[in-house]
Amino acid sequence: RKPIRLVSACMTGTPCRYNGQAKPDPRVIRLVEHQEAIAVCPEMLGGLSTPRRPAEIVGGDGDDVLDGKARVIDESGQDVTEAFLAGAHQALKLAQAAGAREAILKEFSPSCGCATIYDGTFSGKRQAGTGVTAALLRRYGITVRSELALEE
Ligand code: SF4
Repeated sequence: RKPIRLVSACMTGTPCRYNGQAKPDPRVIRLVEHQEAIAVCPEMLGGLSTPRRPAEIVGGDGDDVLDGKARVIDESGQDVTEAFLAGAHQALKLAQAAGAREAILKEFSPSCGCATIYDGTFSGKRQAGTGVTAALLRRYGITVRSELALEE
């Protein structure tokens, strides 16, 4: 059997981003077509609707959210941490059920970011850090990298 990877659904063409759009990446689409990947959107799995208000991690990154030291807040100030945590755990369950050892996730997302996220000020500034789902998958031994680290 081919190794299965978990991939961010928005990169497969699913319009599940906060703004109701997709961010298709031909390399990720190819993996799904070849049955080498399953697509998940942690924010939708967590019960959030699409479109939704953009959210950022305030006070740290995904690891800090997992440790209860930072929160995920949407643009209107609403705390959406629980939905982000629920979605991360759903994504982990699906990854484990599929036997995925690796995930390719959308950089900069408060769920899927692997190395860089927005800094929590809603000013478009980025900082080093992981999203909530990326952090959880990593804790469970799944290798997480972003589409920016994919080779052509
Ligand atoms: Fe894409 Fe992940 Fe955001 Fe869903 S949570 S829209 S999969 S980046």
